[in-house]
Amino acid sequence: MGRITRLKVCAEDGCPELTTQTRCPKHTREFERERESRVHRESQPWRSVYTDPRWPKLRRQVKREEPTCRVCGAPTTDVDHIVSVQDGGAPFDRSKLHGLCHEHHSSKTAQEVDAKRGR
Ligand SMILES: [Zn+2]
Ligand SMILES: [Zn+2]
Repeated sequence: MGRITRLKVCAEDGCPELTTQTRCPKHTREFERERESRVHRESQPWRSVYTDPRWPKLRRQVKREEPTCRVCGAPTTDVDHIVSVQDGGAPFDRSKLHGLCHEHHSSKTAQEVDAKRGR
């Protein structure tokens, strides 16, 4: 008796595959992949700052108020978080933002990355 394996229909809507697990092998793989990518997204919540509707407005405001780079005086192209959001900086606080040219923004970002690596 115990040799009969109970088969169930795959839990995925509309999939007729029979399986001994919750999902057929193909949908198990898809399910795991989806779960991994969700975990990945949730571990980087700061990414959503740049897709937030408040960000473009704030960005425009900073560029208007600080038309030149704080470091070299070149035209502001980038708006930078003084304390990066990854380090717990407030994402939508005007006083926590400043304008930089592209060059100084990328060198600041690179320094932050280096600092994290412990250089
Ligand atoms: Zn399936
Ligand atoms: Zn600059």
